[in-house]
Amino acid sequence: MASNKSGTRVLTALTAALVSGAVAAAVPVAGGAVSAAQGPAQSAGEDGEAHAPSIPGPRAVVGTPTGSYVTSPSWTGQARLNAGWAYSNGGAHRAWDVGLWLGTNVYAPRSGLVIGLNDGVANNAPGFNPGSNSPSNWVLLCHTVKGKPVSSLWQHLSPGIPLRVGQRVSGPRMGSDGRAIPGTGTLLARSGNTGNSTGPHLHLATFKGCAQATGPGNSTAAAWSRYNYLNKPETLVWEPSRIWNRPVVDAAALMTAYKTKTSSAAVLTFRKVVGDASRSRKANVGFRLLIKKLKAQIKYKNRTSTPSRAFLKKLASRTQDFGVR
Ligand SMILES: [Zn+2]
Repeated sequence: MASNKSGTRVLTALTAALVSGAVAAAVPVAGGAVSAAQGPAQSAGEDGEAHAPSIPGPRAVVGTPTGSYVTSPSWTGQARLNAGWAYSNGGAHRAWDVGLWLGTNVYAPRSGLVIGLNDGVANNAPGFNPGSNSPSNWVLLCHTVKGKPVSSLWQHLSPGIPLRVGQRVSGPRMGSDGRAIPGTGTLLARSGNTGNSTGPHLHLATFKGCAQATGPGNSTAAAWSRYNYLNKPETLVWEPSRIWNRPVVDAAALMTAYKTKTSSAAVLTFRKVVGDASRSRKANVGFRLLIKKLKAQIKYKNRTSTPSRAFLKKLASRTQDFGVR
């Protein structure tokens, strides 16, 4: 396990640098769903027990429904949603159970920081579930979404997670159409069937905030907070697709693009975001403030809609993800 001290330092710096970060964009409530007719049938695994309290109000019946086929930069092709926002019995799930075969590569859908993980648990034998509170392999990431810290939890993974706490992960590369290319982000793990699970699947949850690491290894606030979202509706982020269903320009990818071709899709998308944010009164307030601050810092006088390369480089160095529709 990596030194937690350095992990804490990285997280603190990251949070401070990024909290004023990204641009807002309208996000469809149930992004990511595709027609079931297009996808293959997948394994039918889900969490072992579904005894959480019923979800009050309309949230029990909205969202991407169980049985939908979903796409993500985190896996290639389409995968069946074995359980969505609510379990079939109405209990609160507040996550996705994605039907991925044992050993399917799972990639980061957005850049972020590893703030917790557990590894070393063997996959369950077929048909056997060790029950609730049984250990599983999982990864907890911290992202910046709309300028705010958001955690993502990846659960029931196969052993052999190629990450360490404190490590940065990269989001997907962008295609020439400006959309993320699935399977091109950092490899997070291979999907599995560990812990309280009825069959191979990926449990994926997203929630607000990134708890600070407080101790070595897995003894961290982040680790202990990973299921708090079930009992704290105020920490819920809508569906996991929120962290990837906007096209994203990664700052690192952007700088790489600048070094090769300033008319690349990543650069053009980034320029469009900045231009839109500069022009629109409805743009994200935090993002506009950041631009204003940076303009002052670099004595940016140009009032045209195309920002200078120097300005974009400076902006890229201060932020992480930019979404645009
Ligand atoms: Zn689940």
